[in-house]
Amino acid sequence: MENNVNDISQYKDVWVFAEQRNGHISPVVVELLGEGRRIADETGSNLCAVVLGNNTGSVVDELARYGTDIVYSAESPLLENFTTDAYTKVITDAIREYKPEIVLYGATHVGRDLAPRIAARVNTGLTADCTKLEVDPTDKKLKQTRPAFGGNLMATIICPNHRPQMSTVRPGVMERAKRYETASANVVNIEISLTPSDIRTKVIEIVKSRLNLVSLGEAEVIVSGGKGLGNPEGFTMLRKLADTLGGVVGASRAAVDAGWIDHSHQVGQTGTTVKPRIYIACGISGAIQHLAGMSDSDIIIAVNKNPDAPIFNVADYGIVGDVNEVVPALTDAFAEFRL
Ligand code: FAD
Repeated sequence: MENNVNDISQYKDVWVFAEQRNGHISPVVVELLGEGRRIADETGSNLCAVVLGNNTGSVVDELARYGTDIVYSAESPLLENFTTDAYTKVITDAIREYKPEIVLYGATHVGRDLAPRIAARVNTGLTADCTKLEVDPTDKKLKQTRPAFGGNLMATIICPNHRPQMSTVRPGVMERAKRYETASANVVNIEISLTPSDIRTKVIEIVKSRLNLVSLGEAEVIVSGGKGLGNPEGFTMLRKLADTLGGVVGASRAAVDAGWIDHSHQVGQTGTTVKPRIYIACGISGAIQHLAGMSDSDIIIAVNKNPDAPIFNVADYGIVGDVNEVVPALTDAFAEFRL
């Protein structure tokens, strides 16, 4: 990693990779733009978005509404669908040409695939799965914080000698950018040199998953179940409570690992980070890796038969009891309350 050690002063501006599908930006992009705005203001630089696709005009307008100063846009039929090869090449070339100081990606499947490849090609570091970003007031370097050692401590990482400073950021952690209906941004069309032979995979068909995938990140009420449910049927009971409250069902990793519910429901360090108004943890012990994903919820209610379960340390309301008795009683009580 020798070639850009001494010329980091050439790098400026904060870039956000604007992941989009069928003209809709991924929710984490709005969170990255919120965080990017703060970092750009603190470092005295522009907030920029980089978007790849085919016919991305409406996405460019949408990015401008979230306070982006400059949108870098790469358009080509070869970018219609995400492919690792094409996206890596186009963004790598753009970074080499425009030299951003910071590049942020969502820690989504796409971001996690793309960011390490780009980091290797442009000879810089990458901090994966960040939960906090700060600007050092003395030297303006980016301090990137992420859970380490199985979530038992938080590591703050800097990239002192190479640029750009790059992070993937967990969805659901950062504040969303403010939206301004009439805002506009400068648009820079990225010249791309991409040929079909650069892309080693071909998207033949996109088949939507038949699974009922849950949108935990945006839910206002989450009723989560853990190993204490005892069996997969326990989630049917939780779903009734969630439906009564207009919420969705979450799960601990132990319940997911047991095969009781799909991984898309998992809350925690290796699942989704959530901040609902109400989080009800049923039969969940409160391991640090679970707490990492839900402790910022506005109100936490815990149901556990063990009065010493660690979940009670973060709970605003604790109910010591058997989930099989407490959850149906809560469901009936809330149903009556709604009538
Ligand atoms: P348990 O720890 O077995 O707890 C079950 C609880 O149910 C107990 O507190 C028990 O008292 C209670 N209980 C039992 N029966 C009843 C009953 N009838 N009524 C009421 N209460 C009852 N975990 C996550 O959740 N999310 C993650 O993203 C995650 N990521 C991880 C990443 C790493 C690197 C590692 C090492 C671990 C991770 N884990 C994660 C696992 C985590 O450490 C715990 O093992 C897991 O959260 C435990 O799940 P649980 O609370 O459902 O099960």
